Amino acid sequence: MQKDKHAMQPMRFEIGDRLRLRKQHPCGSFDWEVVRLGADIGLRCEKCGRRILLPRIEVERRIKQVLPRLAKMEIDPFSEDE
Ligand SMILES: [Zn+2]
Repeated sequence: MQKDKHAMQPMRFEIGDRLRLRKQHPCGSFDWEVVRLGADIGLRCEKCGRRILLPRIEVERRIKQVLPRLAKMEIDPFSEDE
């Protein structure tokens, strides 16, 4: 049997997943949150909040690390300060 590096199972994203990409946002952050799913993946920069769309294949290529999801905070005293 040959070792096939390409036989990775397709990556599945979910809304709220946090990804560290090799792509650096101009603001300096590498960390993104998945905010939209589809042929293009919507990502929100965790630092400045800007949203981008990247084709799924590009996202998969650029992932450096999948970050642990943040615990969902139902009560966030700072959330009104958008
Ligand atoms: Zn940013």
